[in-house]
Formats: sequence, C-alpha cells, structure tokens
Amino acid sequence: MKRIKILFLILFVTATCLINAQDDFEAKLLSRFHTITSEEMMTWMEKLCSPEFQGRLSGTPEFIAGAEWVAGMLKEWGIKPGGDNGTYFQWFDAPYTVVNDIGTLSLKITQTDGSSIIKNYTYPDEFYPGMNSGTGEITAEVVFAGFGVTAPELGYDDYKGIDVKGKIVLVNRDVPPTDARNPEYSKWVKYCYHQFKLENAVRHGAAGFLYVDGASANPNISYDPSIIVSGIGLQPLADIFSGLNTTNAAVIEKIRKSITPASFTTGKTMTIRANTTRHSEGRGCNVVGIIEGTDPVLKDEAIIIGGHLDAVGKAGKVVNGALDNGSGVVDIMGAAKAMAQSGIKLKRSVVFLFIGGEETGLHGSRLHAEKPALPKEKTIVYINLDMVGNGTGLVVNASAPYKQLLTYFEEANTKYIHRPFRGSAPEPIDYYGRPRSDTYNFSSRGYRTMSLFTTGTVKKIYYHLPGDDPDAVTIEIMEDVAKMIYVALTTMANDENLKF
Ligand SMILES: [Zn+2]
Repeated sequence: MKRIKILFLILFVTATCLINAQDDFEAKLLSRFHTITSEEMMTWMEKLCSPEFQGRLSGTPEFIAGAEWVAGMLKEWGIKPGGDNGTYFQWFDAPYTVVNDIGTLSLKITQTDGSSIIKNYTYPDEFYPGMNSGTGEITAEVVFAGFGVTAPELGYDDYKGIDVKGKIVLVNRDVPPTDARNPEYSKWVKYCYHQFKLENAVRHGAAGFLYVDGASANPNISYDPSIIVSGIGLQPLADIFSGLNTTNAAVIEKIRKSITPASFTTGKTMTIRANTTRHSEGRGCNVVGIIEGTDPVLKDEAIIIGGHLDAVGKAGKVVNGALDNGSGVVDIMGAAKAMAQSGIKLKRSVVFLFIGGEETGLHGSRLHAEKPALPKEKTIVYINLDMVGNGTGLVVNASAPYKQLLTYFEEANTKYIHRPFRGSAPEPIDYYGRPRSDTYNFSSRGYRTMSLFTTGTVKKIYYHLPGDDPDAVTIEIMEDVAKMIYVALTTMANDENLKF
C-alpha cells in the first residue's frame, strides 16, 4: 500500500513538473508574442525603403548600408553573427550597373507621302530601361525572335532563318512549354534564364534587345557592353505589330501550341538609347545571424529561415521593394527579435538569413546553400519568405513528403492567430525546376524546404515597379506572419519528437 502511495506521489510530482514546464514555456512564449507589433515592424519597413538604401540593389554601397543596418539590429537583440570570420556578413562578387538616366525608346513611322515622324515612348509604362544595358544608341530594324532560344538538342531555334546582325531583336520571356510540372519542362529550364536570352542575342550579332518582360525593373540579366537593352510595354509592342495582321500574343500562342519557331522581320525601325555605368568591382553579401541551440545533441541541428534583402534598385525612379521583399525581411526580423528575447532556451539552432543578390540571379542563396553557417546534413529545413505581406490569409508550403513540418505553423495559427490558413505539400513549381526563387537553390541541393505566402491580396502590387512602397503592404498580416513564425519556430526548435 505504502509503495503504491509513493508511486502515486512520484507520478503526481512528475506530472505537475511537466505541466509547470509547459506553463512556463507557454508563459514565456506569450510574454514576447504580444511585443511583436505592426507599429515597430512599420518603422523597420520605412527604414528599409528610405532614400538611404536606394532600392537596395545588390553590389551597391547602398545595399551594403542596408545590410549593415540589419546586422546592427541583430547585434542589438543579442543574436550571434553567422557569417565570414565571426562577422554577420557572407560576401560574394556582385557586379552591378548604374542606370544614369532613363534613356529613350522611339519608333520611326513612315507617312504615306514618304516622310517620317518619330514616336517617343514614356517611362515607366511604355518602356523600362535595361538595367544591365550597354551604354549608347542603336537605330535599326526590329526582328521578332520568339523566345530568343537556340536549343539544338531540342530541335528548336528562334534564330533559324532570320538575320539579326546589327538589328534589334524582340524577345519574349520564358520558353515554349508552359507547364513547369511536366518533366519535359526540365529540358528547357536552362533556356528560360534572362541571361541566356541576352547572351544568345549577342552570339547572333544583335545590337539591340527589346524584352517583353512586363516593362519593369530587371537587374537579373547579363551585361554585355555591345548590346543596348530596353524593356518594352504594350503600346510600342502594338505599334511594332501594326499592319502585320497579328499580335505578339497571337504569335507566341502559336509557337507554344506547335513548339515551332515563327520568327520574322517586322519592317519597323526603332531607336533605343541607354546611359549606364558598369561596376564590375561590386560586392554583395548575405547577413547571417544565429540563435545557438542549448541541447548538447540537438544544437547541431539547424532551422534556417531566410528572405532576400536586396531589391531592384533604381532605373529612373527608385523601386523601394517594400513588398518584394522588405515584407519577408521585416517578418523575419519580428520573429527573430522575439525569439532572442523570450527567455526560452532553444534546443536546436536557428539561423536567420537575409539574402543578397536574389534579384540579380539568386546569388546569395546559392552561396549559403553551398556554404551554410551550420552543416547541411543536420539542417532540418530551409524556410523562405518572398513577398509575404499583402493580404488576409496565410499559406505555408513544404516539400513532400515532409508534411509534418506544416503542423508547427498550422498549430500556431489555430492556437493564437486565427487567420484563414492553407498548408500544402509538396513545394510547387520551384521544386520542379523553374529557378525563380531562393527556395530553388536549397531544394535543388537536397534541402527540405518550405515557403510562406499571404493570400487574399488587398493592395495593388507594384512588382519591380516604382510604387512598391511601405503603403503597398498590409502591415497587419505581417505582424501575424511574424507571430506565426515566432511560435512555429520556437516549437519546432524545441520538439524532441521531430526526427528525419
Ligand atoms: Zn522577391
């Protein structure tokens, strides 16, 4: 009888301790939960979008100033450096181009009496300066070159049967197949890069490059001093096709259906003028902070959460990159500060990664995936945030078959946040090979990955355009994203049952 009493006593004490530990965990968790505020997050957003950082183009001194500001905040919160030689910075070469003025795009229109007039287009709706353009002026005939792809092994060449030497090529983004989930698509991936398209135009002797790319800022394209580049909007595109009994969209549709090139000379003459300065000496960086785990075994396991800090800089007006991706940066900062100050000792280590060089070609994420702050083999997951701050609902994706990772976020939302929530696995498109986000650099190297998004867009999106300012984000959802990350990561970092 006595033995049973003692057993009960032991059970009672153990249970009480567990409950107390749980209460203590929850009390600490909640004590910082409410200190994540949209007001403070907005001050960070305004700082990131201030004239000081000039749109944070990777490689520029202004980007580095932005990186130093983020590192300073991590330091203030007691988050340790995880970059090169005990610093917060992980450096890489980042050549960049300064657009000195917006340049011009114009069309020569021949009148019925043989005389001609010049039609000038307006920035930013009708044309957008090529952000890695050579400097100078080119007046030449425009040749439609489809997707600008030469793929001998696929029996496809947009340059077959046309002569583009000294001419201006008109090139569309992407590749003929549209479904990135189709295994066929993987054969085309290397041709979908902006870099490939520009270099291919140079190889064929083109002197000008008009890119049908939504007429927005695009620093993610090769630099070649011999070619003058401009983004082209709808009006000049329509003018090029006027009198040809077709449209760019119709020809592209035809190519997509038949996977057969349909290039032709348009008979229209345009002028592109660009004024740029190349800085091949540019250096860019990631900012890396770590909260080290305290469990003797689990501390070697890392959770990486990252988002790109760079934006597209300035071509004409500054593009501040509030939604893309000040939102992701500020979401992570909100969670990082709370995690550093909650008083909860994390068992696993958490790496906060503020990525450079995303907009110029996913450079920072490639570097970190190859040289992570903590060993890749022990990394639980890489979680990416890109444009997470416009809407009313939350979306969390995880790479299949690691659905389990979703539960931390789902539970955080169910318990504390109560937003519409959608969790799914596997990671969509990126996982299949369209190299358009930092997640790709991790998933393609064998990391488990997750991505966070917001849904139910409530504000106009100025994607890579002037106007992507602090008032283009919904700061309330950002507060909730930061809170969800804070709860989910704290729980994930301390869950002893999480094993792969
Ligand atoms: Zn982005």
